Amino acid sequence: MPLYEYECPKCGKKLELRRSMADSDLDIKCPECGKGILKRVMSLFSSSSSGGSCAPSSST
Ligand SMILES: [Zn+2]
Repeated sequence: MPLYEYECPKCGKKLELRRSMADSDLDIKCPECGKGILKRVMSLFSSSSSGGSCAPSSST
């Protein structure tokens, strides 16, 4: 199962949850404040292909 990162717009709580693809769009109430609905945020390191790091290339 893929690991998704969620963030609460109310309190800013971030947490990672392992959910199935089908469940990834379901609303999850924030366990921290109990008010916000967690928003899924994209992990920076999961979708990009390997080797494409932000290494500066100096061509001087
Ligand atoms: Zn919250």
